[in-house]
Amino acid sequence: MAHDASDACSGRSRRVAIIGAGPGGICTAVRLLERGHDNFVILERAPGIGGTWFHNRYPGAECDIKSHLYSFSFAPNPAWSCRYARQPEIKAYLEDVVDRFGVAPHLRLSTPVHAARWDDTEAVWHLTVGDGDVVDAEIVVSAIGMFGAPVEPDIPGLDRFRGTVFHSAEWDDDHDLSGEAVAVIGSAASAVQLIPEIAPVVGSLAVYQRSANWVAPKEDDPYSDDELAEFAADPDAVAAARDEIFTTIDPNLTFADLERRALAEEAGRKNIAVVEDEELRRKLTPDMPFGCKRPLASNYYYPVFNEAHVELVTDPITEITEGGVVTADGRTRAVDTIILATGFATTKFLAALDVAGRDGVDIDDAWSDGAQAYLGITTTGFPNLFMLYGPNTNNGSIIYMIECQVDYIMKMLEAMDAKQLRWVDVKRDVMDEYNDALQHELDDVEVWQAGCNGYYRVESGRIVTQWPGSMSEYRARTEHADLSVFETA
Ligand SMILES: Cc1cc2nc3c(=O)[nH]c(=O)nc-3n(C[C@H](O)[C@H](O)[C@H](O)COP(=O)(O)OP(=O)(O)OC[C@H]3O[C@@H](n4cnc5c(N)ncnc54)[C@H](O)[C@@H]3O)c2cc1C
Repeated sequence: MAHDASDACSGRSRRVAIIGAGPGGICTAVRLLERGHDNFVILERAPGIGGTWFHNRYPGAECDIKSHLYSFSFAPNPAWSCRYARQPEIKAYLEDVVDRFGVAPHLRLSTPVHAARWDDTEAVWHLTVGDGDVVDAEIVVSAIGMFGAPVEPDIPGLDRFRGTVFHSAEWDDDHDLSGEAVAVIGSAASAVQLIPEIAPVVGSLAVYQRSANWVAPKEDDPYSDDELAEFAADPDAVAAARDEIFTTIDPNLTFADLERRALAEEAGRKNIAVVEDEELRRKLTPDMPFGCKRPLASNYYYPVFNEAHVELVTDPITEITEGGVVTADGRTRAVDTIILATGFATTKFLAALDVAGRDGVDIDDAWSDGAQAYLGITTTGFPNLFMLYGPNTNNGSIIYMIECQVDYIMKMLEAMDAKQLRWVDVKRDVMDEYNDALQHELDDVEVWQAGCNGYYRVESGRIVTQWPGSMSEYRARTEHADLSVFETA
């Protein structure tokens, strides 16, 4: 596509390409439209919107941050039916936001972005999409999320299994589990949510647990009719509910308060106490501090293990045969369906795509020591490329964190417009200094140094996913867009 250099400096006509139509992509679109900027496209590989909440539709999928905070500040939802909404309700909420704010005309669904190349001469990104089409944009906002790549475990024989096998994030809606012998591999976030839902219908269930996780009780009653009526009638009541959730979780995101941590572990132990068998209770009790891994919450997970047809297997899996799962004790359990609740590859970020920045530098080379960015939003050598939910931004309500990032990007665009800049690229020394300080802050988060959080870290030992502070601290850090930290042209 021919490029008119004046476009790049004329503010509102800058072409923006947003990659991903999850909460991040949707939020960016709404904020662009708010500032009168409609020259943008959202490129989404899936056939629908919602991101995580489009893909993860396993039974029981729900958020673990209360919904009045896990929603956009500009689109409060008085109608959340319960404190932690389930996937269908969250997806419907996001679809409603897309409709109400006029985002739909900008969507290009079923359009994966394979590659992004920065053109130094033209100061434009060339995005290769779908079956080879190229989309040009002066600004790219990557909203590809952290949970887009389900991990298949490396178990010998998995590929020769003759029954049904699917990952929790790729749920087979057409497959009926009724009466089947089912194996769930994994016992973390998705497993804890889906196991209580499938247990009543399956014939037998074997849960393969590598390490026990803390599963706290969950205050998950539906809102009463009176509460819902109050929310519907009074926007201040919705705002107050949101504020209360914020002030409760914000100071506790790094589990620094030892007393609170002890209370959380005590609550976890009480939750486990419903399991009748002592040996089972022992196996389900974690040997790591609360917060070391992502804490989970459910009132329905542990009671499942009192059912006669449910078995907890802690012997490591050695092999999968055509018809069953073999464990280190030599036992084979015959199984019809294997559900892989084995999580996601979370540390690649933008390197999941084929991205080349200034001077053709590949993002894999730029990030050979692990993903890094300034404020989690921009990374040196990749001008005019802004990331949402990027490196070291995972904590609290991700929708809140994303809103901070989008606000920052809008301020950057305004600053670029005001100065008639073609591009901005964060200075290397600024990014390095930021990351050195960040890693020191992460060293101070005691529970993340307890050695059990593989998915937060890369091989070099750096934690690349977590934000080490509160949401308010992140808001304060991203409040101002300061052009002096960028190389500009
Ligand atoms: C089961 C589950 C439960 C969760 N619960 C919570 C919770 O309770 N609270 C919380 O704060 N967070 C939770 N999260 C994290 C959740 O991912 C974020 O809250 C939120 O969805 C991030 O929004 P996003 O738009 O950045 O990414 P996503 O929601 O992941 O959306 C990214 C989108 O980008 C698309 N995409 C990816 N690559 C490409 C490509 N190359 N080309 C085109 N499109 C692409 C994907 O298809 C997807 O639609 C949960 C995650 C999972 C998996």
